[in-house]
Amino acid sequence: MGTISTLPGTRDILPEEIGYWQYVEAATAKILGRAMYYEIRSPIFENTSLFERGIGEATDVVSKEMYTFSDRSDRSITLRPEGTAGIVRAYLQNNLYALGGVQRLWYSGPMFRYERPQAGRQRQFHQIGLELIGSRGPRADVEVIALATDILKFLGLKKLKLNINSIGDQYDRKLYREALTNYFLSYKDELDIDSQNRLSKNPLRILDSKNEKTKEINKNAPNILNFLGKESQKHFDEVQQLLTDLDIDYHINPCLVRGLDYYTHTAFEIQSDNLGSQSTVCGGGRYDHLIEELGGTSTPAVGWAIGVERLIILLKQIRCSPEHTPDIYIVSKGQKAESIGLYLAQRMRSAELVVELDMSGSNFGKQFKRADRSKAYVCIVIGEEEAKNSTLQLKWLYTKEQSSMTQSDFLHYIEELKKQINQYKKVTSGLT
Ligand code: ATP
Ligand code: MG
Repeated sequence: MGTISTLPGTRDILPEEIGYWQYVEAATAKILGRAMYYEIRSPIFENTSLFERGIGEATDVVSKEMYTFSDRSDRSITLRPEGTAGIVRAYLQNNLYALGGVQRLWYSGPMFRYERPQAGRQRQFHQIGLELIGSRGPRADVEVIALATDILKFLGLKKLKLNINSIGDQYDRKLYREALTNYFLSYKDELDIDSQNRLSKNPLRILDSKNEKTKEINKNAPNILNFLGKESQKHFDEVQQLLTDLDIDYHINPCLVRGLDYYTHTAFEIQSDNLGSQSTVCGGGRYDHLIEELGGTSTPAVGWAIGVERLIILLKQIRCSPEHTPDIYIVSKGQKAESIGLYLAQRMRSAELVVELDMSGSNFGKQFKRADRSKAYVCIVIGEEEAKNSTLQLKWLYTKEQSSMTQSDFLHYIEELKKQINQYKKVTSGLT
């Protein structure tokens, strides 16, 4: 019988890559923690209707990309294609609004969309996202944008481009939608099929088309920025002023839209030129009417999501994977020596040393080679002789200094050993 492989659009994240993931997650937790965002974890599957209402049936995500199935009780269930709907559901279901003020929440985890797999586009992919719920002002938009750029900068990604736009409020957009529909109707036969279908349901999304011919037509389409009312214009101006005050560069892209009625005002995207055609690392915006749409009282909110796979493609271009190396490598041979090795490994681990125990049972030569390759600072050696005398050999792998001591002396020496290793790390970290 053959082996079984992963499904298309899914992949294993192997140990050689995991350092990037842990690094990204740790950096996010740190930067968002500094701004008093709390992590929230919601279920990976939810009622299908949550996404139909929370993302919108006219979107590609809901109409073509969801993993929807019936469970054994005939409930219609969907693997979450994005994070916001579930977070808003959790916010309403758990009365988080009763805490008053704004809620600052972030999340990270797998999302599922049935898309054509390609570089930077998978069927199971990961997002890190945040939502700032309860603030209407432009400061909220700019805080979340600034945090996205902080995370990307902290990770060392510099050449990214921030695009912003305003899609106004519902009233502005109604007028715009009419103008846009009229414009596209005169080009109806030249639009690609997808765009023709969007014409009646979701004409703003046509502006987002990747079809070359449609892109040409888009160039002369009416511009949303000419349709902003006074309040919307003021909000957008203030967002721009605050970004400038924070020294955050931006470009205005009037084709950057979100098609649905509960999106309002600011939409933004952070892009990289080093990602081929899947160039957007982070997308977000304001959604002042979503919470009502999901049954809550009218509450403004703004948020974004970063695609972690795309982020890691970029990180790999600029740095190597953070290494996970042991402090101590234990080499042992013979039954008694091997059980002493395991015992000492556990004792050192509880003293917070990172300890790798060679379990191969192979000859000393091979074990020593692996010790060297492990990049540990110290190698502990226990052979039959040492097992019999209750001693061990301690070898500093960088200086080749070697000493012998009794196992009971060693147990008292662990704290001192830890200090010495930390000292050594301090000295050597300046060199790399
Ligand atoms: P795209 O235009 O690339 O399809 P989107 O508008 O569908 O993006 P959002 O729903 O705004 O994307 O999700 C935010 C981010 O999540 C995207 O900018 C991207 O980095 C990432 N992302 C979205 N879909 C996928 C996918 N199928 N595989 C990998 N990453 C994805
Ligand atoms: Mg998409």
